[in-house]
Amino acid sequence: MSGTDETQQIYDLFIIGGGINGCGIARDASGRGLSVALAEMGDLASATSSSSTKLFHGGLRYLEYFEVRLVREALIEREVLLKAMPHISWPMRFVLPYHQDMRFENSTPTSRLLNTFMPWMKGRRPAWLIRLGLFMYDTLGGRQILPGTTTVDLKAGPEGAPLQDRFETAYEYSDCWVEDSRLVILNARDAEARGAQIMTRTKVLSCERNGGQWHVTVQDVNSGIVRNFRAKMLVNAGGPWVGDIIHGKIRSNSTEGVRLVRGSHIVTRKLYDHDKCYFFQGTDGRIIFAIPYEQDFTLIGTTDAEHSDPSIKPVCTDKERDYLLAFASDYFKQPVTQDDIVWTYSGVRPLYDDGASSATAATRDYTLKVDAQGGAPVLNVFGGKITTYRRLAESALEHIQKHFPKVKGTWTAGVPLPGGNFAVADVDRLIADLQKEFPFLTVFWARRLIRAYGSEASEVLGHVRDAVQLGRDFGATLTEAEVRWLMEREYAQTAEDVIWRRSKLGLRMTAEQVAALDQWMKDVRGEGAAEAAQ
Ligand SMILES: Cc1cc2nc3c(=O)[nH]c(=O)nc-3n(C[C@H](O)[C@H](O)[C@H](O)COP(=O)(O)OP(=O)(O)OC[C@H]3O[C@@H](n4cnc5c(N)ncnc54)[C@H](O)[C@@H]3O)c2cc1C
Repeated sequence: MSGTDETQQIYDLFIIGGGINGCGIARDASGRGLSVALAEMGDLASATSSSSTKLFHGGLRYLEYFEVRLVREALIEREVLLKAMPHISWPMRFVLPYHQDMRFENSTPTSRLLNTFMPWMKGRRPAWLIRLGLFMYDTLGGRQILPGTTTVDLKAGPEGAPLQDRFETAYEYSDCWVEDSRLVILNARDAEARGAQIMTRTKVLSCERNGGQWHVTVQDVNSGIVRNFRAKMLVNAGGPWVGDIIHGKIRSNSTEGVRLVRGSHIVTRKLYDHDKCYFFQGTDGRIIFAIPYEQDFTLIGTTDAEHSDPSIKPVCTDKERDYLLAFASDYFKQPVTQDDIVWTYSGVRPLYDDGASSATAATRDYTLKVDAQGGAPVLNVFGGKITTYRRLAESALEHIQKHFPKVKGTWTAGVPLPGGNFAVADVDRLIADLQKEFPFLTVFWARRLIRAYGSEASEVLGHVRDAVQLGRDFGATLTEAEVRWLMEREYAQTAEDVIWRRSKLGLRMTAEQVAALDQWMKDVRGEGAAEAAQ
């Protein structure tokens, strides 16, 4: 398909994919002086990067697979990231109840070792091993902010209250929460502020090498308009589509493979009253989390299920839902039932295919491969975690640097994302200050705004004296002023972008309120009038 040659500019990098890896690389590369264009076929973070468990974590369970490099890097990253975005990320404590029935997944290197040398354990995960893992977890990452592991008497504290009486002891350790889709959007905004061109709802149709450059053809998904771009290097950060892009868009015969593993979560009404998370171990060797979510809910997940095709929208199947309900009900006094569920979501992990026997065992580490055969190079991104996105971007830039020798060095560690220029301990002060500046804000509302926009929250509201001046009220504290900010500054186009990826207000708004928001946004974008004329 040919289109109008939009620009004479030859970009240094053309990035396919507006998930966390594409946006993280775009930010890092623009900050180093490279010219960058990024195309995302849907909304930013519309695929895997809004469907994670939302943890900046080392991944305690990966220690059983001896993935020490990945765990160490991720543990160190937790605090680097927390300091750069204290609005959208915060420390959390995880309570791991111990029971002697807990078992390994059969195929982990640790379980094979124990089965050989301590066969009488019969696949059980002993308490000393968990303690050893937590000791490594505490020490590998060089913590400064996050507190270390403690032992909890479940008979005495609030942590034991919602759990069955058979759990008497637990270990408690630290990791961090992150608002995954907002992380992507803030990276995109920062990349744009440093010169990158970010294009959403823009699908890459084909990429061809020509005269040592890439000729990339894209289509605006809304208007159908086709445009051409030229770039010296291509970055394939297509997540679950990475393989499709290699074979279908670039038409390379690379043999690198991706393994698609679906993970589903259920969101229930709030199941308990304290603010800590649970780390539950199953008798099948898997683990799940139960996490306090959006103040009034509990998030439970995840599953590991093979997913055949990225174009099949991932949904939480009945089997996955029942598995999560049964798993959680094995721990909570009050069984968790279908009636408790208010929402479910699913994502597909684009894992590097390392030939592992099961989806649970497939590596969560990332792999970067440059293919320079035939002239212009392409960097293909496989796997990765939200937690390691910044380090992944740095590694990507190491590969890219070979083709752009004058590019500047690493810079992103310690540089805050938009709205994140304050100390981790100052969140409550910021909330109080916002309420002082805008006395009509409730605590819920002020907290929500600070947790989303940080030091930019008062700019989102603007110079107003009362709530009426914020314009139309869409419900659940969402107002016209905020929606305009999201449309003008954060690439939001539809109600879904606003209520599921810029916020989680979808949990609180009615179908009528969402429809009214969507219509209003269409009208602002000029689509409402066009629809009426048809
Ligand atoms: C259930 C689950 C739980 C997880 N939990 C955690 C966790 O707690 N902590 C953690 O650190 N990690 C977690 N992860 C891993 C993490 O979410 C992923 O590694 C990460 O989001 C992958 O980001 P990505 O940018 O590679 O892919 P994506 O976010 O999928 O982005 C790829 C983008 O490319 C776009 N694209 C594809 N083809 C084209 C094209 N032709 N043109 C234009 N755009 C295109 C897609 O639309 C998509 O938006 C979890 C993953 C899952 C599935």
